[in-house]
Amino acid sequence: MRWLCAVFFLVVSPLFAQTQPRMVRIGVLGIFHPQELALRADPGAQLLVVAAGQQLFLQSRSACDSITVRRSETSLVIDGCGKTIRAERLKATDRDQKAADFVLAIPGKLSRRYEGILEIKAAAGELVPVISMDLELAVASTVQAETNPGTPAEALKAQAVVSRSYLSANFGRHKNFDFCDLTHCQALREPPGANSPAWQAAAATQGLVLTYEGKPIAAMFTRSCRGHTRAPQELGLRQAEYPYFSVACEVCGKDPVRWTRRLTGEDASVLSTKGESGRLAICRRLGWNAVPSNNFVAREENGEVILEGTGQGHGIGLCQRGAAFLASQSSDFREILIHYFPKTKIESLDSGTVALR
Ligand SMILES: [Zn+2]
Ligand SMILES: [Zn+2]
Repeated sequence: MRWLCAVFFLVVSPLFAQTQPRMVRIGVLGIFHPQELALRADPGAQLLVVAAGQQLFLQSRSACDSITVRRSETSLVIDGCGKTIRAERLKATDRDQKAADFVLAIPGKLSRRYEGILEIKAAAGELVPVISMDLELAVASTVQAETNPGTPAEALKAQAVVSRSYLSANFGRHKNFDFCDLTHCQALREPPGANSPAWQAAAATQGLVLTYEGKPIAAMFTRSCRGHTRAPQELGLRQAEYPYFSVACEVCGKDPVRWTRRLTGEDASVLSTKGESGRLAICRRLGWNAVPSNNFVAREENGEVILEGTGQGHGIGLCQRGAAFLASQSSDFREILIHYFPKTKIESLDSGTVALR
């Protein structure tokens, strides 16, 4: 009987796994350090907002279609629908307390449409909106945000597997949520439409991740490389659980993306003493493209430092430019991934063989 139960579990558990939606918690709009947010239901959708034991139903084109949320010390002040509610946190869902379509805005700045379960609280002097989002929707959204228009379909599929692997392997990157919506984790904005190439790339690779020794890897990617990719330890970064390899990249080898930048002597010394972490610190301060890659030569000129380099990004993992080139040469997404991530497997999260944390 015991073996019969074991067989039943092995056969049936992947089916159970398929019915469990995988959710990721993504902190959004944090770069704006919001003090006030406006929340409204998407047209045709209804939004149930629960705060301090009270409920509000937001519906577009009704007298109660939106609320504003402000921070007051460590609590929220919620205004709308004829009420003012003070609460520690707010949760917004559809009527059945599941994922809803909604629009979240920073008044006077920007407005974005999302799908998921929204929670807002106050922390560190700002509002912290966090969306629990279906993993596949998060994958499609990051593929859309992290790739160039016109990227070939097989390269988009490779990117989808890389994004899903990262989101499956790398929980808890932030204190109040798992991932931010910036390149620090992976860029994420509005979800793409169901007919978009990004959505189709996610759908065509649904559930597939890169694994190493049976676990998904926090797969990294770079816009272009210097002709071969790098391992993190080459850059003084901590070695990842997956031992990245330096892989040849044909298109960047023949014709790398070249760039020139001018830096102050002070910034240049940060680069020379702190390496990749210094480059990232400069990019956080001066803009993400201030020093496009870690592969350059430097010379002094009139009190400034001139950098001449090749490649864009840290150079680790999937080279997006190389992936697009391989796709144009008829490689499929599996061939592209195995080229940039040697010794990995491409496995389904639903296979029952992939160990999650
Ligand atoms: Zn992050
Ligand atoms: Zn490359």
